[in-house]
Amino acid sequence: MSIQNIITVPDEMLRKVSEPIEKIGVNEKKLIKSLYDTMYNSKGIGLAAIQIGIPKRIVVLDVSKKEDKPSPYCFINPEIKKFSKETSVYEEGCLSIPETFIEIERPRYIWLEYIDQNGKKKNIKCDGLLSTCAQHEIQHCDGKLIIDFLSKLKKEILIKKLSKKKNSSQKLIV
Ligand SMILES: [Zn+2]
Repeated sequence: MSIQNIITVPDEMLRKVSEPIEKIGVNEKKLIKSLYDTMYNSKGIGLAAIQIGIPKRIVVLDVSKKEDKPSPYCFINPEIKKFSKETSVYEEGCLSIPETFIEIERPRYIWLEYIDQNGKKKNIKCDGLLSTCAQHEIQHCDGKLIIDFLSKLKKEILIKKLSKKKNSSQKLIV
């Protein structure tokens, strides 16, 4: 599979609820590699399988800084067990929503249960950017997007704008 195209708004695929993974076999391992390749290639810090058109509950993340060593995470069937009351705010972008940044307040800490690439059940406490990014990616698995944090009107205007852009760029390719 390797580097894949990333699906963008308003593609309805992004609204699909992803299915849990039952077994990590050759195909799942290939998918994970593809997700990492596609995420790093697009300079993103997180990517969910649904964003490349595969409705399975797998997300990859790497929130390390450019100058630091990579710090990849792969969460399979991630489940948030607890949210902190304390929050943090980040301006979030999304590889599926070009040129759009939205300020979002989310719980600063989350306690996450997931399965790793080797099929082992694990727990992790996520802080700050990792917490925000994990929540963003898990929402992709549930068909939710950062534009859902906007008012209905703002969201409609933005979707219209993005649809126009998409159509015109498709014309250019032709
Ligand atoms: Zn996203």
